[in-house]
Amino acid sequence: KIVCVTGASGYIASWLVKLLLLRGYTVKASVRNPDDPNKTKHLLALEGAEERLQLFKADLLEEGSFDPVVEGCEGVFHTASPFYHDVKDPQAELIDPAVKGTQNVLNSCKKFPSVKRVVLTSSMAAVAFNGKPRTPDVLVDETWFSNPDFCRESKLWYVLSKTLAEEFAWKFAKENGIDLVSINPAMVIGPLLQPTLNTSAAAVLNIIKGANTFPNLTFGWVNVKDVANAHIQAFEIQSASGRYCLVERIAHYSELVKILHGFYPSLTLPEKCADDKPYVPTYLVSKEKVSSLGIELIPLEVSLKETVESLKEKEFVNF
Ligand code: NDP
Repeated sequence: KIVCVTGASGYIASWLVKLLLLRGYTVKASVRNPDDPNKTKHLLALEGAEERLQLFKADLLEEGSFDPVVEGCEGVFHTASPFYHDVKDPQAELIDPAVKGTQNVLNSCKKFPSVKRVVLTSSMAAVAFNGKPRTPDVLVDETWFSNPDFCRESKLWYVLSKTLAEEFAWKFAKENGIDLVSINPAMVIGPLLQPTLNTSAAAVLNIIKGANTFPNLTFGWVNVKDVANAHIQAFEIQSASGRYCLVERIAHYSELVKILHGFYPSLTLPEKCADDKPYVPTYLVSKEKVSSLGIELIPLEVSLKETVESLKEKEFVNF
């Protein structure tokens, strides 16, 4: 079977390509710059890559650029989208590539009848940001949608980009008869395959690299292997549909520090929170749908340890 993965050199996508190749798929992978070894070397070294991995050049903002990637594929995994927080021009740097990129990829899917299902890498960013209170007794599930106005007012530009991209995808899929499934992970951690640092792994690196304080933030956390696997299950299981929230646990940074201290007692970790306000509360995220994909989520403790070990191995940190 032939499938394609957009943004294949990224953190999540690299794992997705690895697992797809191991499952025997032929993978057409799009990268922005096929001549940059930092973006391709780790992919070309994967088991099965020599026989079944084909690289293509494609850019989210270039109309028609995904046609050669999508052509002939039964499954399309659209993961490419910028994930940064430090941006000067949110529209140009985040929103346009997220939304126009999704439009571009889905337009290609519409052109080729070989495409049976599209799996979109969305995010909890498109689920949980609507201004409704989130407290330890609140259960967030797939019926929640982030609110673009709330995101704009709160200047949550990355969150807005993912919210608008998913909103666009559902509308386009409905109007054009595309079988779409979305995977909505929270902060993704776990081992890195790529040589460069991605935003969510950097969240862990920042606390083990000698920061004085930890941020007063509460996020959901999930292992990259579970995220990649969920994409494949969502494609392979015929009855899969709609959205799938992927969160093993919601935890405040103070909790992460505590877990890391247990694994690495001699490591200097931040002791204080960055502000004096009460900790941002945790909440719950339903695991009912994701378990229907046959996925039992890897515990946060294991994911954190794997992340640190990988960051050490890749020499982002030394201890
Ligand atoms: P990475 O930064 O590792 O990957 C992002 C990918 O998008 C890269 O391959 C990048 O290409 C590609 N990309 C960005 N802009 C463009 C563009 N203009 N044209 C073509 N490709 C582009 O991040 P992740 O692996 O973490 O993210 C992958 C997906 O998962 C994204 O959709 C993200 O929103 C989503 N996600 C991530 C979470 C996380 O915690 N990591 C949580 C929830 C969702 P290049 O390498 O050339 O820059």
